[in-house]
Amino acid sequence: MQKNRYPLLVLISSVLLAATFLSIALVRQGKDQQEFEQHLANDGRQAQAAFQIAAANQELQLLTLAALVANSPRVAALFAQGREAVLAEGGGPGQSRSAEARAALMREVEPAWRVLQQQFGLRQLHFFLAPGALSYLRVHHPDKFGDRIDDVRPIIVDVNRDQRPRSGFETGRLYSALRGVVPVLLSRPGGNPMTVGAVEAGGSFEPILSLLDRQLDAGLAVTVDSTHVEGTVWNTNLPNAGEKFPGCDCYLEITSRPEIRAWLTQGLLPDQKTGLSSRLLEWKDHSYHMLRFPLRDYLGTLDLKRPTVGSVLIWSDISRQVANERNKAWRNWGFNFLAYLVAQAVLLLLLQYFRKEWQRRLDAAKEAVSVREQSLDLALKGADLGTWDWHVPSSRVEFNERWARMLGYRPDELEGNLETWSRLVHPDDWLALNAVLEPHLRGDTPAYESEHRMRHKDGHWVWVLDRGRVVERDAVGQPLRAAGTHLDITARRDALAAAEASRREVEHLSRRNELLLMSAGEGIFGLDVRGRITFINPAALSMLGYGSAEVIGQDSHALLHPRRQDGTAYPEAECPIFRTLHDGMTRHTEDWLIRKDGQGFPVELTTTAMKEQGTIEGAVTVFQNIEVRRQAEAEMIRLATIDSLTGLLNRRCFLEQAEKEMARVRRFNQGAALLMLDLDFFKRVNDTHGHAAGDGVLRHFATLSRDSLRQVDLFGRLGGEEFGILLPATDEVGARETAERLRGRLEGHPAEFQGITIAVTVSIGLTLLSAADASLDIVINRADAALYRAKHQGRNRVEAVI
Ligand code: GH3
Ligand code: MG
Ligand code: MG
Repeated sequence: MQKNRYPLLVLISSVLLAATFLSIALVRQGKDQQEFEQHLANDGRQAQAAFQIAAANQELQLLTLAALVANSPRVAALFAQGREAVLAEGGGPGQSRSAEARAALMREVEPAWRVLQQQFGLRQLHFFLAPGALSYLRVHHPDKFGDRIDDVRPIIVDVNRDQRPRSGFETGRLYSALRGVVPVLLSRPGGNPMTVGAVEAGGSFEPILSLLDRQLDAGLAVTVDSTHVEGTVWNTNLPNAGEKFPGCDCYLEITSRPEIRAWLTQGLLPDQKTGLSSRLLEWKDHSYHMLRFPLRDYLGTLDLKRPTVGSVLIWSDISRQVANERNKAWRNWGFNFLAYLVAQAVLLLLLQYFRKEWQRRLDAAKEAVSVREQSLDLALKGADLGTWDWHVPSSRVEFNERWARMLGYRPDELEGNLETWSRLVHPDDWLALNAVLEPHLRGDTPAYESEHRMRHKDGHWVWVLDRGRVVERDAVGQPLRAAGTHLDITARRDALAAAEASRREVEHLSRRNELLLMSAGEGIFGLDVRGRITFINPAALSMLGYGSAEVIGQDSHALLHPRRQDGTAYPEAECPIFRTLHDGMTRHTEDWLIRKDGQGFPVELTTTAMKEQGTIEGAVTVFQNIEVRRQAEAEMIRLATIDSLTGLLNRRCFLEQAEKEMARVRRFNQGAALLMLDLDFFKRVNDTHGHAAGDGVLRHFATLSRDSLRQVDLFGRLGGEEFGILLPATDEVGARETAERLRGRLEGHPAEFQGITIAVTVSIGLTLLSAADASLDIVINRADAALYRAKHQGRNRVEAVI
């Protein structure tokens, strides 16, 4: 945190805190105020209800009193007489008879009137003649009578019309009053009672007011609007209609307390509304809550649309409650203020604490930074980094020792300015360097990095990796300070150059390899790791009969159907190509591949895995068609085993085969016979007919004998004119037969050579092969012995030595 911001932080947090407490206090006060007003409004509604109940009670009482008078039979009779008199004397006030009847009625009711006045506060007792409202006797004002007041006293008119009692407030010719009106009916023997008129008991609000004043501890007043009073009450009686107050344009009908007069004079009443209205009034160090609600006359209660005729005012001294509220408000403010002070103190303490803590951390961080800077310095040294620190506007640059040493200078040999640097940069590298430096200085790139050459003091060039960054800019973004490092990368550049050279070499080599591949006599194809052909050379294509496009990407196993030498197909997993792809081992096999036309040809197949860092990436298979070689080999084998003159097995081969037969005899204890044959006096043939004729005789003998032997019999020329025949699975009898047959056949078939017939015979020695014979030589010796015997016993014969 920067120091100069701390007071601002304190100010802002204090203001926020104060605002919080202020709003809490305001909300609280508003709520209290609302509660207080609610309380007053409740009081007001209760007071209004109390007044209305009391008024209804009063009206009921008036009705009762009126009924008391009306229900007296004497009163009814006297009233009826009066009615007759008035009717007889022309209506209105009537004349003498009417006056007498009126006086009689007056005498009758006067005692009761006095009692009613004194005990019930009755203000008027008034007899009216029906129909309408013809005043007959005002008991409270006996001098005034005979006037018709139908227009101002609808309550009388209504009672006289339908003989039902009614009550209400009404203003009459003398004053306004609450009134109870009941019909006066004269019962007639044997008929309906006769309507005489109505009697009205009128009272003031005084009992209501004095009762409620006590019970509600409130002042009450009733006012009647001036227009209403002045339009109804006789002018002569207006002074009795109450005090007039121009301030409210009303007459004060009655009040329970005097202070209302001053308020009426000054117009300090609540606004007149149709319903309940109220106001707070400060008056002579007291606070009053004043209610006002409308007063309705009799007609007004029947028809609520009619204008009201006055107001009821109820006020109570709420000085104590107001003082309470004020105290409450003060307490609220005081408490909040105290709480605010405490919170503010805590806040300040906390801020102070955090400030110290931040300061401590800042110091620790600075310490860490300085440690880091030191270790950075060490690191720079360790990393062999030269550093530069460039003050851009002044072009001053600080170079460290390593920066200078890298280029062969002592630090004091270099001036600390930009010129020192730019002078040493290789002219050929300026273009590339500016292409990265200028955008960075403009602020387009986050950092600057360049590899360029710098001149060493000795004159050679040093490759430098120059990395840097603008670390400070002025208000308009111009660089003020930049810093960075130099790393000597000459060795790395040399290595890179060497690598590049070797890469070129490799490229060259691989081009050569490609040529070799294309011109090789062997078929060569490459496979990817899944066995699909990736390349194939022309030799392979021509051997297989495919075009390049037909094989590239194809599965080599499916396409070339590799088969074993014996012609059986390889399951894919056993195919040597696939095994090499699987295990990476180089395999050299002799197999068959199938050409496009379905023909197989024998191949020598070498599959070598291609590995990249130990992973098998594919394989290369090289193959040669070995059909011709196979044929040559077969021929060689044949030549090695066959006697060229006779086409029979040569000696070596015969003996080999005989050895095998010997082994079979031993293993299976199977009989076999060996014949040794020698042409008789062959020397003579040569001597007589020449060597070639001798050869012809030998061939003749070979052919002749072969034809009379079985396929399984071995027939070999053992040397000169000596032959051996091995007869497998043959006993002595069979062997003798065969030997005889051979001997006889030659005897009977002389050789023909160039038109000359040359007769020859053969001597045959016979022996049997036995499992007991230790070696073939022993058997041969026996056969030789037998042959020897045949020669000695005259030749052209068969002898056996078993
Ligand atoms: P015998 O066996 O009846 O006692 O009398 P022989 O005349 O056959 O005696 P011997 O077995 O000693 O002679 C074999 C002769 O066979 C000697 C040699 O000139 C002749 N001979 C050996 N090999 C060949 C050959 O390949 N071609 C010809 N034309 N003559 C051969
Ligand atoms: Mg011989
Ligand atoms: Mg011979």
